[in-house]
Amino acid sequence: MKKGTAAIFNADKQSFEFSSFPKPQPRGQELLVRNSYVTLCSSDLKTYSGERKEANPTILGHEACGHLEALGPDAAVVDEKGQPLHIGDRLTWAVFASPKEDPQSQAGRPQKAEGLFKYGHEKHTSDCSWHGGLADYTLLRPNSIIIKVKDSMPIPVLAMANCAVATMAGAIRLAGPMNGMSVLIAGAGTLGLVGCAMSKVAGASKIVVVEPVEHRRAKASAFGATHTYTTESVAGSFDIVLETSGIPASMERTLELLSIGGRAIWVGAVFPQRKVEIGAEQLIRGLHTIKGLHNYNRLDFIRAVDFLENYHSRFPFNLIVEKEFPLSEAKEAFKYAIIEKPLRVGIFL
Ligand SMILES: [Zn+2]
Repeated sequence: MKKGTAAIFNADKQSFEFSSFPKPQPRGQELLVRNSYVTLCSSDLKTYSGERKEANPTILGHEACGHLEALGPDAAVVDEKGQPLHIGDRLTWAVFASPKEDPQSQAGRPQKAEGLFKYGHEKHTSDCSWHGGLADYTLLRPNSIIIKVKDSMPIPVLAMANCAVATMAGAIRLAGPMNGMSVLIAGAGTLGLVGCAMSKVAGASKIVVVEPVEHRRAKASAFGATHTYTTESVAGSFDIVLETSGIPASMERTLELLSIGGRAIWVGAVFPQRKVEIGAEQLIRGLHTIKGLHNYNRLDFIRAVDFLENYHSRFPFNLIVEKEFPLSEAKEAFKYAIIEKPLRVGIFL
């Protein structure tokens, strides 16, 4: 019987065990994907280093993509956009699979539904496996949001669709109309760079990026930023703030730069940290709005994939993955990502 390998991550030992199992067979509505590529997201790195606690042991890697290998007997034969599915199609899938009847799903917040299944975050057991990207296969569960993507999209770019790009698509939705507006983006990591590109396409007239690292500021310019500053030097007044750094001082500082009626969208602070001080009077008199976003919804994901299909060659998305490793060197990949802090490390399968 054909087998597949999975890198089982044990948080207690901070180690990967490469285990071979029989190739899974999709049952019912499941789909089997042959994983092609995974990019390591900062939440993977925080789980690896122990800053985040996830189910243990697990199969990490949720920014993943692959090719359709097999369909369960009751699986849908079309993707989320109604495109017919065929064996060998290139696929991306949302990080969560949520019960559709859950009140949160019904309210457009499937990422907060009770009983959701989250790829790259579940406990690996003998009954429940093949749910992370750092393995030869992913078994896509019922209620997964699956999109077929054209073969012209570079695989390392596609891998980022279902976390960084979809999250920023959600942030742009919450920010509202951008045409002719001034946008301040805090942080030029992958989220910030995608934010530059999406703000540009949405018609923002001024896109200012605050980022302490020089080579990231240079990349921000290539992704559409009109001005870049170090943290201390930024000044001005902005209609929209997209906060991707997650640093409390950055959230406080950028709130002070909101214009009358300004909207701040916070997506970066997804790890434990100190509380943020907000001037209530300034918020009230300035008619400001602050919105938080964790993950994204179905429409955000569809828009993210559409955005990449339309614009992946207009912006230098190929510069985001700075180093690649094979699956067998997963440990080296994580260490490199944590020490060298590239925008993304890629793992190919
Ligand atoms: Zn992620």
